[in-house]
Amino acid sequence: MSDFQKDNVALMCDIGELVGLFDFETGLDAFLAKAVSTVAWHMRAAVCSIFLYEPDTQELVLRANQGLNPDLVGRLRLKNGEGVTGMTLKEMRPICEARATDNPHYKHIPGSHEEQFVSFLAVPILRKMNPVGVIAVQDPQWNYFTPNDVQALQVISSQLAGVIENAHLLLKIRGTEKAPAVEVGEASDSEFGPGTHCVRGQGASPVMGMGLSTRIGHYLFHEGDGGACPLGLTEADFDRAVALTERQLLELQRRLEDKIHDAASMIFGAHVLMLKDDAFSGEIRAQIRAGKNPWTAILDEVRRYAELFAHSPNPSLREKVLDVEDLGHRLLHNLSAPALESTSPDYTGQIIIAEELLPSDILKLSAEGAAGLVLLGGGQHSHVAILAKALQIPLVIASDQRLLHLPEKTPILLDAKDGQIVVRPGPEAIQTMKDIIRSLADSERLAGQVKPETRTKNGREIQLLANLNLVSELEVALHVKAKGIGLYRTEFPFIVRSTFPTEEEQYQGYKRVLEKMEGRPVVFRTLDIGGDKALSYFPVDHGNNPFLGLRALRFSLRNPAIFKQQLRALLRAAHGNPQAKVMFPMVASLDEFEAARTLANGCRQELEQEGVPCRMPELGVMIELPSAVMMANELAVAADFLSIGSNDLIQYLLAVDRTNDEVADWFTPWHPAVLRALDWIVRAAEMAGKPISICGNLGSDPQMLPFLLGIGLRTLSMDSMAIPAVQRRIERIDLAVAQAQARQMLAIGHVEKVAEFLKSIDAAG
Ligand code: PEP
Ligand code: MG
Repeated sequence: MSDFQKDNVALMCDIGELVGLFDFETGLDAFLAKAVSTVAWHMRAAVCSIFLYEPDTQELVLRANQGLNPDLVGRLRLKNGEGVTGMTLKEMRPICEARATDNPHYKHIPGSHEEQFVSFLAVPILRKMNPVGVIAVQDPQWNYFTPNDVQALQVISSQLAGVIENAHLLLKIRGTEKAPAVEVGEASDSEFGPGTHCVRGQGASPVMGMGLSTRIGHYLFHEGDGGACPLGLTEADFDRAVALTERQLLELQRRLEDKIHDAASMIFGAHVLMLKDDAFSGEIRAQIRAGKNPWTAILDEVRRYAELFAHSPNPSLREKVLDVEDLGHRLLHNLSAPALESTSPDYTGQIIIAEELLPSDILKLSAEGAAGLVLLGGGQHSHVAILAKALQIPLVIASDQRLLHLPEKTPILLDAKDGQIVVRPGPEAIQTMKDIIRSLADSERLAGQVKPETRTKNGREIQLLANLNLVSELEVALHVKAKGIGLYRTEFPFIVRSTFPTEEEQYQGYKRVLEKMEGRPVVFRTLDIGGDKALSYFPVDHGNNPFLGLRALRFSLRNPAIFKQQLRALLRAAHGNPQAKVMFPMVASLDEFEAARTLANGCRQELEQEGVPCRMPELGVMIELPSAVMMANELAVAADFLSIGSNDLIQYLLAVDRTNDEVADWFTPWHPAVLRALDWIVRAAEMAGKPISICGNLGSDPQMLPFLLGIGLRTLSMDSMAIPAVQRRIERIDLAVAQAQARQMLAIGHVEKVAEFLKSIDAAG
């Protein structure tokens, strides 16, 4: 059976989705059971097992299985190093056997009925080199598992590792790992009873925290909550309050800019603008001159604005209510200061519970050491949430009003990643949360070392973009400060489903990616079905050479109804999103590009006639076929941008199947033909004055980076996880030197000589 039928790509997608869908309610064992059946199905393997490692006993326990005696689940225990499975963990490496019994460590498990399963492949599940477990597949056919399967299972094991580790720890926190029901004390409608309680909310900033509860609140601007109005205040007091408020806001602004560098940092700058706006403070002053007490004048004007914003049809204006209240609150506070100037409270180690929080509260609370925030109501897109995320304070938005009645100093754990609030956790849960926080802090620190901009040694900026397969990966892309998405492989959401997504479903998905990327460029690559990516629900005869069959743009042009549905969804998503771009995979000729563009134009006309908002995005061409290289000059003129798909370009230029390990030694990105093709494409784009990037794996190859920059590439798109290392490598590259090296490499005729040259510059640099 070939790898193609085994469908490892679909397997990785399904596992990716499964990981994203992990549900605490059904628990870890249900998740693992789904995982083994998904793996067995896609790998067409008779058996799949997941063993988890128990640090206390140092044993592997069979936690999920398909194909063996089901009675073994939970009972079969192996010592570290026992049998081939135990050796996999001990040696921390995959073990693949054509016949398992040939392995000297083979150990027969009585009652397992595994005698019939000859082939064996096991991969360790590791988390930062710590043992988590082992995943193993078996099959009756001799020599059934290929090097490709080993790779696929390794990818899966790394995906499983994260979810198993976190699930393990978090389920412990909830006390659900051993007993399925959450430990819940007696409860009434308005208050929590004794014991542990878990409340689900929306996680608004993906961090964790724990501490003792403290309730705070702002009631100043609600009807009847005017607070005590101090008497005898004058216009001069108001002016003083305005000046003090401005100073404070500018200071807050400065501190905020030190901490975060995005749009959220303009919050206090915007407050200053409003404060100085005649329509706001001028109106208050006019009312004071007309005889109103300054306190009441401020209150009335703030309420008027809040009312205006609250009823705006524009959601972002509605969220400004908190900003204007924040400004009003500060003004009133400063109007009565210094008498009311309180000493700044210290919230170290406390979880703040509030019905409402103002944006400036978040900064203040962060400065005052708050360990986390629970907000009863509010939006995930509000400034409060943006700030909490930017400042890495755990924030969960919940609606359970009982939280407001918690006695002060009740212990609370917050998992703002999954939106969990645990009230009165047990000691084991607290220890576990400490472990999680520590491990998260470690990875935070590493990703935090990525700078927002990537520059060469001599200061030239290089754009590092992320490749995206599933939306769930966006979080990592953002975490490593990707400047955008240089390649969104839109076929993956198609592959993981059992039917075609509708136009509306596609549109919603694309819009979500654009929203999450918040204005950064996103390049949507239209369907690249075929090759090693098949749709189970739309079988196509790919012939003997799937990579030379009905693939990518050929597939789309052959199936215009499917293609048009995707183009319509993309054009709709591009409306109001100028950063959205679309590119076509495997373009072989000008004719094909023009045919695709004509279809896109047709979609635009249709949508316009239907009155559906849409926009024609920039249309790009992927250069990944030798024919496209030869036509690069004309394609660069015709298209809005070019992107080099080096994975396929190398495959087709050198006639080396990119999925066949047997010929992996011939997959040589440094082959003079590849180097010259790359240089030729970049020249073509330069001559036509069109942007050019690279989105194949070559773009993150540390050895090849000097060459890529040397021939003029300035935009590289890669797996998010590669970004930190690529950034560090680029910082050591001097462009002038890289250009000279590229010239030298382009003059070499032998593959081996280029390899030697690369080694020599690697050793020197
Ligand atoms: C490529 O071919 O280099 C590319 C980026 O596309 P894919 O890997 O999805 O074929
Ligand atoms: Mg490709």
